[in-house]
Amino acid sequence: MIRFEVVHQSSQSWARVGILETAHGTIETPAFVPVATQAAIKALPTHHIEATGSQLLIANTFHLHLRPGEDTVATAGGLHSFMQWPKPLMTDSGGFQVFSLGFGRDMQVGKVRKAADTLPYTTIERGTQPSGLTISDDGVHFRSPLDGKNLFIGPKESIAIQQKLGADIIFAFDECTPPFASEEYLEKSLERTHRWAKECQGALTSQQALFGIVQGSHIQGLREQSAQFINSLDFPGFGIGGELGESKEDMDNVLAWTIPRLSAHKPRHLLGIGYLDDMERIVRRGIDLFDCTVPTHYARRGIGFTSQGRINVRQSKYVGDFSTLDKACSCVICQTYSRAYLCHLFRAKEVSSWQALTFHNLHFFNAYIAQLRQRIRNNDL
Ligand SMILES: [Zn+2]
Repeated sequence: MIRFEVVHQSSQSWARVGILETAHGTIETPAFVPVATQAAIKALPTHHIEATGSQLLIANTFHLHLRPGEDTVATAGGLHSFMQWPKPLMTDSGGFQVFSLGFGRDMQVGKVRKAADTLPYTTIERGTQPSGLTISDDGVHFRSPLDGKNLFIGPKESIAIQQKLGADIIFAFDECTPPFASEEYLEKSLERTHRWAKECQGALTSQQALFGIVQGSHIQGLREQSAQFINSLDFPGFGIGGELGESKEDMDNVLAWTIPRLSAHKPRHLLGIGYLDDMERIVRRGIDLFDCTVPTHYARRGIGFTSQGRINVRQSKYVGDFSTLDKACSCVICQTYSRAYLCHLFRAKEVSSWQALTFHNLHFFNAYIAQLRQRIRNNDL
């Protein structure tokens, strides 16, 4: 179980500072949640993660179901002991991966829409199925991307897997709808997501905190309806999922339609969003938690986030630059190594280059959100 308390509400916006207590420790919100898809932060062994200031991690139900399987994780005593992470953990429901394997893969898109001209669909009508899987009212049939085996995940299966994984916070199974879906498709999908939310509640037998997920794409009426419905089901917290429109302004609108309809004393998690320049915007709208692969993904491409903006340490201008990566950063990488050395590691394709920059970027994101928490306390955000 969890306990959540808002300790300060900004006088300037919906932003708030909160304390979220779980069986594995306390989280100060708003908090950034690093993504540990395969029960691992890519390039960073678990024993290094705590020093980045990370308060909780989110692992991926779908991937862990495929490999190593929830039974193996349960035999290890659950995800906490399997990966040796003593602090709070979340697992997502697998809904987003369904979306990625289906229309997402067909259309080569993520959560923010792109130009329609190269896509196989102009509009996705009710009844249309993606090429890689079949969505029914009970769940989703698909082939394992690892070995081609026929698999099925529905709300009950998702909860059963997440119970064996044993994270502190788990999510209801939902359909993350594709961009360019017709309004009729979206309405039908939302009915299904809402029915699945209740089924997930019915299937839960553990003490884990199950968050309901608000969907409804970028349509105001559907978002409002979904927020009201999911709020009425008495979940201990909420996820906000799905497509958020074409621009940052659209994302802002979706949050403005959603957040006021969710109980103010429960935590709200925005799924899969959190570029550095999004953080202030979503926190201002009242988001308490968000997960995002940006710091880790960019690190592996040589991109470091600094107080002076992003830099690509592979560039030739850093070959002889013996200054620190970011003078304002207190992390061990910035206290120890020069840009020249990091540049060399990347150019020499040393795996420690990924580890070093992943560590710094996570530290940077966590320090950035800590500053935002301070600004909220000062009513400056
Ligand atoms: Zn640093």
